[in-house]
Amino acid sequence: MGDNGAKPSRSTTAGVDRRALLTSAAAVLASTALEGIARPAVAQRGPVRTLIKGGVVLSYDPAVGDFARADVLIEDRRIAAVRPDISADAAVIDASRMIVLPGFIDTHHHFYQSALRNVLPNGVLADYFRDISGAATNHYRPEDAYIGNLIGALRSLDAGITTITDLSQVSNTPEHSDALIKGLTESGIRAIYAYSRGSGPGAKYPDDVERLQKTYFSSADQLVTLALGTAVNKEQWLLARRLGLRIFTHVVGGNRGVGFVRVWIPKILFADPLVERAHRA
Ligand SMILES: [Zn+2]
Repeated sequence: MGDNGAKPSRSTTAGVDRRALLTSAAAVLASTALEGIARPAVAQRGPVRTLIKGGVVLSYDPAVGDFARADVLIEDRRIAAVRPDISADAAVIDASRMIVLPGFIDTHHHFYQSALRNVLPNGVLADYFRDISGAATNHYRPEDAYIGNLIGALRSLDAGITTITDLSQVSNTPEHSDALIKGLTESGIRAIYAYSRGSGPGAKYPDDVERLQKTYFSSADQLVTLALGTAVNKEQWLLARRLGLRIFTHVVGGNRGVGFVRVWIPKILFADPLVERAHRA
């Protein structure tokens, strides 16, 4: 995996680990909480700073502004400043030929399918349902799910995307779910793992979500956190609500739950901060 040629200009301490450097170099699309940035393994005085310098900065926030050329300063896990000509004692990433989107989150991925990339280049949605989320997904083993999530997350980091949502619709067995989480965690990316449906007799969705939460997600303050990927389904939404999980739901015209959507959109869907809609119009 390349580092996009963006190397810190100040020498970092010997304690900086591989993931920190890798994530730092890939942080052109900076998230609001970049825990992986230049984190030393040993204690040092003051915050750890990274300065993304000289890019086209698009914050999409009127209070911050958009800039043809500006800098983004990250202190520890937070974006501390967005403006032109920031001076700071920091590891510097040259973004002079790049677009910087501080706070950007890529909210829609099915990373397990990364290994199938290019399999269906001319397919339409019906082909995708038949071949990818249908036939191929049924044959996934846990190790396939793991490698799909790992390489999908690494590709995102390599493209400068540091924060993503993975709608993991291959929970064919609990071992698949364990493998999906392992792939995300080992990549070093910041991710919401949206535990979703699977297929076959070994599928335990959604009941396995409580085991996953207890096993892997005891804290909300970690790089990979848990959500529930659902259909437009009241019981699933109530389960997520009981466990305090965000809900990720595909909302498209052909969705079988579209009647439910018509009834409930005004009441819940667009009023509930815990609900994220994919394909929303
Ligand atoms: Zn999707």
